[in-house]
Amino acid sequence: MLPWVVRRTRLPLLSLRCVDCRSESATTAEGRFRVNANSKLLDVWLLVRCVSCDRTSKLTVYERTSVRSFDPAELHGYRVNDPELVASRLLDPLLARRNRFSLDWTGAWRLDIPSGSLDQAWPVQVAVVFEDPVPVRPERLIAQGLGLSRNEVLRRIKCDVPLRRTTSAGFTFTVMAAD
Ligand SMILES: [Zn+2]
Repeated sequence: MLPWVVRRTRLPLLSLRCVDCRSESATTAEGRFRVNANSKLLDVWLLVRCVSCDRTSKLTVYERTSVRSFDPAELHGYRVNDPELVASRLLDPLLARRNRFSLDWTGAWRLDIPSGSLDQAWPVQVAVVFEDPVPVRPERLIAQGLGLSRNEVLRRIKCDVPLRRTTSAGFTFTVMAAD
């Protein structure tokens, strides 16, 4: 089975309305946390910036949380703005739900396909693997990956998930020979 891999090329933008200029796009930019200690309770925020006017807003990661409940390595990561921690928090659906934003993956990911992959006997089986939770519509991903029209995709592809339903979970499909 051929592996296709979906992976991010940078962090996605956030669809988040700016309270100043009403723009709906924000970025984590270089990726910064702010940690605020109040006796033994900590607040942790992820800072994001409006793409239009540069206004900074704070996304709540932890609110009034006991210092002792933090893993020391993780807490250190917040203090030094660990890029991997920025990525994992930003991509955590809980943070998005809590702070009411969605991720804008436009131009922030790519599809890696092994070269010469269709030089083999039909039908061909492909397994799509997601290294990052990029939401894709299987129909569009397959059309792009194989250079087929959407109609050809509908005719030649057998897929184990609905072709038109957006997903970020791995799936497999079979490409049938062209007539
Ligand atoms: Zn703004």
